[in-house]
Amino acid sequence: MFQTYDVIVVGAGHAGCEAAAAAANLGSSVLLITMNLQTIAQMSCNPAMGGIAKGQIVREIDAMGGYSGIVSDKSAIQFRMLNRSKGPAMWSPRTQNDRMLFAQEWRTMLEETTNVDFFQDMVKGLLIVGSGKNRRVGGVITGMGQQIQSRAVVLTNGTFLNGIIHIGKKQFGGGRVAEKSSSGITEQLMTLGLESGRMKTGTPPRIDGRSLDYSKMEEQTGDINPGKFSFSATASLQNQKSCWITYTNKEVHELLKEGFDDSPMFSGRITGVGPRYCPSIEDKINRFADRERHQLFVEPEGWSTVEVYLNGFSTSLPEDIQFKALTKIPGLETVKMFRPGYAIEYDYFPPHQLKLSLETQKIGNLFFAGQINGTTGYEEAACQGLMAGINAHNKINAIEPLILKRSEAYIGVLIDDLITKGTEEPYRMFTSRAEFRILLRQDNADLRLTPLSYQIGLASSKRMFRVKQKQDALIKIINYLNKNKINPAVIDPYLVSRETSPIAESTFLYNILLRPQVTLKSLITAINDIDVDINELTYDIPELKDELLEEVEITIKYEGYTTREKQLVDKINRLEEVPIVSTFDYGIIKSLSSEARQKLSKIKPATLGQASRISGVSPSDVSILMVHLGR
Ligand code: FAD
Repeated sequence: MFQTYDVIVVGAGHAGCEAAAAAANLGSSVLLITMNLQTIAQMSCNPAMGGIAKGQIVREIDAMGGYSGIVSDKSAIQFRMLNRSKGPAMWSPRTQNDRMLFAQEWRTMLEETTNVDFFQDMVKGLLIVGSGKNRRVGGVITGMGQQIQSRAVVLTNGTFLNGIIHIGKKQFGGGRVAEKSSSGITEQLMTLGLESGRMKTGTPPRIDGRSLDYSKMEEQTGDINPGKFSFSATASLQNQKSCWITYTNKEVHELLKEGFDDSPMFSGRITGVGPRYCPSIEDKINRFADRERHQLFVEPEGWSTVEVYLNGFSTSLPEDIQFKALTKIPGLETVKMFRPGYAIEYDYFPPHQLKLSLETQKIGNLFFAGQINGTTGYEEAACQGLMAGINAHNKINAIEPLILKRSEAYIGVLIDDLITKGTEEPYRMFTSRAEFRILLRQDNADLRLTPLSYQIGLASSKRMFRVKQKQDALIKIINYLNKNKINPAVIDPYLVSRETSPIAESTFLYNILLRPQVTLKSLITAINDIDVDINELTYDIPELKDELLEEVEITIKYEGYTTREKQLVDKINRLEEVPIVSTFDYGIIKSLSSEARQKLSKIKPATLGQASRISGVSPSDVSILMVHLGR
């Protein structure tokens, strides 16, 4: 029935879909095996993509030639650029999505990708070939007993490995509600020497939009000029749907407390660690007992469904308690519930067992991506899938792995954090995790990453051409602003109108733009009156004009900061360039602290830079290592 594939991807969630697309687009023959072909790219929880730090990740995936950005644009029902009031390093795009359309668009894109085959079954085990250092994966064994061979395997099982769902005292096996859990893989990997752990997450009830009174809620509309995720030519939204805001209150809290005795979290039935930054409503009431209300976002699930997602009300309390409490929320008095919220516990594999390429250290050609590595979130999963797909392809073709640096991408930060620091709770990305966030902005993801991806054969030449056009226009405009002065008589009325002081003598436009009150767009309108037309410089790519002008402005205004960050990156990169072989014996360096020796032996950092970021490895340990490696 089956050929021998280059890469088998197990699981068609966000990680699996990106992994399959990346490996196939690089030229590998790929089999995507998933338990249910009807649930490809299912959004298990909220129907939204992006947000703070996650939006940057989606832009990066897109810049690399992944599909998540395009799919999100095509299925968006609302777009907002979050954090606009802060500096551009914090701007984060977010879309509300049509859940069903999102999954459908993903499936269409994968079906249109040459080299991807599909098969529906549960993978129960792996084919292992060779032994000792040559032990590697050789394919998979499915529930129906098929043995399918491949040169590499990417596991992206999400929340399905021995998943247990909890609602009040009820508990049953499942990978998501109404879907089977997956067994066999954890057990086999443990016999092969891998460690596993347990984590948990939860989701709120879904409710009937027809039963809500929106007049009691605050409306949250999309941006007036909606942006998009993809740097390719996807269309911006013409129409948008609103979300709504309401609040819990004391009465809701009291009702929920009635269910605490039956709560699987408080009774100890759930042992897995949950996401600290996405607490359940019962957790919020318990931890912040002095808060009289909690904000809830009432989010539509799509263009043509009445189903609504209640963001902020994740719960695993008994369903009747959930329902009663909902009816006390303003606007939800006559609510009808489609499905109750629930919590789920599942197995994950602590990620220090991986290399930076996402290949396991113990079993050659076996890669892990997504929630299986202890992360939470679609975006975190998708970007790991992309990298695992690239590196699985590279590995079987004897090409060096692609490792993004912390200074190049949030994706690099995420993978380095996971492998170097590990994670004991579901890992979610924040801007604060990145030390070079002025460099890692959402607006410049294409300039940072598309050339890299094009070089390895993933980003198309069409994408690369667009980036080149943008880069050229950027330089032309900056040079123009640097070389041309403007007279006070021409510019002063504009400056006064922007509430900034007039100039006394001719001044370079570049210097005018440095003022916080001046935007490039308004400056162009002002100087157009004197026949100086910057528009001319953007003619090559008219549809990118707004994006381009924003990029120029950020580049100029933040130049001081970016230069400083780049200098720091250069310093740190010197440590990154000192490789350490994976067989290095730290036991022989007696002057290392015993904690450092233990952690270095466990994590096996690939470079001195990575070694320096391991907690417990002090600067003096790094100096000792440096001297030793220098020898
Ligand atoms: P998934 O999206 O889980 O996909 C796994 C895929 O693998 C599925 O298609 C499944 O069918 C398939 N599969 C599994 N095992 C096998 C097998 N043995 N053989 C074949 N196919 C297999 N994230 C947040 O950021 N915030 C939240 O509040 C949040 N809440 C969540 C609540 C719930 C109830 C759940 C289930 C998830 C929640 N998540 C949340 C997590 C989010 O859904 C995941 O982070 C994301 O979907 C992970 O993507 P993934 O590709 O790793 O796995």
